[in-house]
Amino acid sequence: MVINAMEQIMKDLLDEYKGRLQLNCTCSTCLDDILALSLNKTTPRYVTNIEKAMYIKAEFIDKQEMTSLLVKLAECAKIVSDHPMCDNYQ
Ligand SMILES: [Zn+2]
Repeated sequence: MVINAMEQIMKDLLDEYKGRLQLNCTCSTCLDDILALSLNKTTPRYVTNIEKAMYIKAEFIDKQEMTSLLVKLAECAKIVSDHPMCDNYQ
């Protein structure tokens, strides 16, 4: 199994900060759109199981990098929130 550790890390960040991102819509489609967009802008870090992803989060991602991931997430949240593509806005 090969997974992108950033996927889990971004997902955790989004869970933690979605309340503060002033989203127009917080349905699962919009949250997935934000996640996908953010991950497309983030260099992937592939690991072979989910525990290793957590290890990467703990050991390799410093505060500064976490902050830049959060900035990226906020940018993508704004893009999706300004133009939601989900059923709520069709
Ligand atoms: Zn939505």
